[in-house]
Amino acid sequence: EGEPVTGYDVVVIGGGPSGSTVATFVAMQGHRVLLLEKEKFPRYQIGESLLPSTVNGICRLLGVSDALARAAFPIKRGGTFRWGRNEEPWTFAFGLSPLLSGDSATAYQVRRMEFDQILLDNARANGVEVREQVTVTGVVEDETGRITGVLTDDGSGPRTEIRAKWVVDASGHTSRTHRHVGGERHYAEFFRNLALFGYFEGGKRLPAPNSGNILAAAFRSGWFWYIPLSDTLTSVGAVLRPEALDRVHGDREKLLHELIAECPIIADHLREARRVTQGPYGEIRVRKDWSYLKDGFTRPGMILVGDAACFIDPVFSSGVHLATLSALLAARSINTMLAGTVGESDCLAEFESRYRREYQVFHDFLVAFYDTNQDEDSYFWKAKRISGDGAAVPAESFVELVGGIASREQALIDAVDRAVAVAGEDRDLLSAPQMRGVLREGVRVQVQAAVGGNADEQVPVRPGGLVPSADGMHWARPAVVTS
Ligand code: FAD
Repeated sequence: EGEPVTGYDVVVIGGGPSGSTVATFVAMQGHRVLLLEKEKFPRYQIGESLLPSTVNGICRLLGVSDALARAAFPIKRGGTFRWGRNEEPWTFAFGLSPLLSGDSATAYQVRRMEFDQILLDNARANGVEVREQVTVTGVVEDETGRITGVLTDDGSGPRTEIRAKWVVDASGHTSRTHRHVGGERHYAEFFRNLALFGYFEGGKRLPAPNSGNILAAAFRSGWFWYIPLSDTLTSVGAVLRPEALDRVHGDREKLLHELIAECPIIADHLREARRVTQGPYGEIRVRKDWSYLKDGFTRPGMILVGDAACFIDPVFSSGVHLATLSALLAARSINTMLAGTVGESDCLAEFESRYRREYQVFHDFLVAFYDTNQDEDSYFWKAKRISGDGAAVPAESFVELVGGIASREQALIDAVDRAVAVAGEDRDLLSAPQMRGVLREGVRVQVQAAVGGNADEQVPVRPGGLVPSADGMHWARPAVVTS
């Protein structure tokens, strides 16, 4: 092993949505960020149905809206469910919430190979040093127990030690490094489901204007997701109870077709379709043991974001939302600690409590939603009870919860129009490397617009808590102390 590599403020492990997001938001503040990704992108990943909070909040703050529009991903207006006591499918639209209107009332269904590439390229464009095909094999700890760096293996020689003031573990469900923070993962008994999934060409679409919706259909053995990824490509997955484990050990192709035949609405949509058998979409994959929560998300020198910290269940597509929201929260904490304006333990506590709160809202709602003996109205009421003093009308609470904006975090709702109006500069000019300083300023203005004011007007979410700063990328103490 040679000399340690030094000089980084932050090392991020993993280049999925959570890693790219936290790296970009920290680099935008002028800090030196290294992101290490073990694969060569584009690489396959599941998690294709996004929420408005991600697309219109985080992605706009990241500055990738145009790139996403160019990718022409199907536009998701909401969800269509054959679920609960109602035999007929029912549909919700994000636009039902008064907080979401026009463009902000939709999300995308994404081909993750392209989506993750867009976010990673954008991290590079914002000054993050990205190295692919480098695996982090461990972390380095000093005599006080503080994490001070990582050990890497690029397959070409001895392991390298890379030091940084902060290490962010964004390495997803396969993370090994998470073990150094917050004890073991606790697996949820309730969500011990497994999924069997593949891709089809030529599946039917729901009638307009809902053709980009996710279709979720409960049936005897579990439920199906049916996600349009282009005009012709569809992601189809069966989420099954753990008892089905033996069945997936056999012929996966046969089982997938048997399950489709058990579920009339999915069978109908796939009547004319053929399964993709070549390329990255050609495999029938299985995932299980996905639902877990760590006891702690932080320790001195290290923070867990995204799936490295927790994941609940595929229903309602909260994964990328939690991943990118946690990345924004972590970036605020890191930026604040690097600036030295608020103490470390307060910054870490703020990150962890907000991330846990969002996790809990989804967790509690998803538990209720798996009770399929209810009708839509009772799910809407449940959403209203869980999200507390949100919208007045239960159906609006439901839409805000499943749209990822139950926290009413401004940055998730309308990073949108106000930001664009204020920033309004020439995007091509701003993306030139020599204009990075200007870009940073542009982004600062944009972000400032998105959070709509300054710390004086913000109220903490817990006693003694912090609030987003005026630039939206740090924490600040609230001007008025609340009890
Ligand atoms: P990841 O996307 O997993 O990225 C982690 C990255 O870290 C990877 O690129 C990996 O190669 C890299 N890495 C790993 N180890 C190392 C290492 N040691 N060194 C360097 N790099 C490393 N979410 C949704 O939002 N919508 C959905 O519809 C949805 N459907 C789902 C269906 C199923 C069956 C499952 C299981 C999950 C689903 N999810 C969904 C969840 C979604 O997949 C994840 O929440 C999301 O991908 C998490 O993002 P991340 O950035 O934290 O991790």
